[in-house]
Amino acid sequence: MTDSTQLHEIAAGVHMWAPNGVDTWGLANCGLVHSDGEALIVDTPYTPALTEAFLAAARRVTGDIVPNTVVATHANGDHTWGNQCLAGSEILATDAALEHQCVEPTPQQLHALVRDSDPDQPLGWYFRRHFGKFDFSDIQVLPPTATFSGRHDLTVARIPVELHEVGPAHTMGDLVVHLPEQRVVFAGDIVFSGDHPCHWAGPLDQVSAAGERILAFDPEWIVPGHGPLLTPDELRTYIAYLDDLSDQALLLHGQGKTPIEAARVLIDEDRYPGLGLPERLAITLSTEFRHLNEDRSRPSLVEPFALAARIAWQRASDTAAPA
Ligand SMILES: [Zn+2]
Repeated sequence: MTDSTQLHEIAAGVHMWAPNGVDTWGLANCGLVHSDGEALIVDTPYTPALTEAFLAAARRVTGDIVPNTVVATHANGDHTWGNQCLAGSEILATDAALEHQCVEPTPQQLHALVRDSDPDQPLGWYFRRHFGKFDFSDIQVLPPTATFSGRHDLTVARIPVELHEVGPAHTMGDLVVHLPEQRVVFAGDIVFSGDHPCHWAGPLDQVSAAGERILAFDPEWIVPGHGPLLTPDELRTYIAYLDDLSDQALLLHGQGKTPIEAARVLIDEDRYPGLGLPERLAITLSTEFRHLNEDRSRPSLVEPFALAARIAWQRASDTAAPA
């Protein structure tokens, strides 16, 4: 599942485009659903260049069919900033995702953050390491053309497609795409595989509940927002991780720890072995602690990032130190 020049068939008419998105930021999975001359896309990649690669792979499967519908699972740039390559398509998202788009950094702001931050400090080093490979400079963000709350059903020729709002969870406006006949769910960033997730809206109970809703559809396959395809059992393991992290957050918050201290405790005890990007724990715990503190102010995106960058910087310098 690592060849980004290919689409991988999950079920008849259903494909996943899976760049190698483990142990790094921004390389999200996308979906293609096609049937009898119609095609729908689930999420677009982070940049126009990546989107052209995805669409070229899609054309090898669909021939001349031009996708006329894009479903955005949420408003993060790594799932929506390729929309400009599909101008003229209907872009579907939740009402809350449209609202959330207003508080996302723009591509130009992110470009400036990567370019202007100090590469010899943790944040600048971390931005360059994970976002330096993308060119955000010329991206125009295309917002959704149609939004809904709750549930929206449509068809791609003969394939029924259900969109279910499950946020706030990863972000304010998450949805999942359920294909009942193919028994596939595109989970967006409700689900990460291979790496620790980073959840921005939370609380973790909501992300876990969204995972349970996916399981209740009785799918055969779950396409995560990032990383390899999952079976229901693997999704259960991920939900157990979320529930344990929620318990640990409550415990460590009760001990007066800050989010970065709590993340370091969990990393030091190797509580979640085998998952990449453990520094993301600082982001998800920042979100969780905001809920525990009943802090309703608008969250900063850069502050939790800076905590994650400090942890990653420290871990990299520990690794580099002579024994
Ligand atoms: Zn993502």
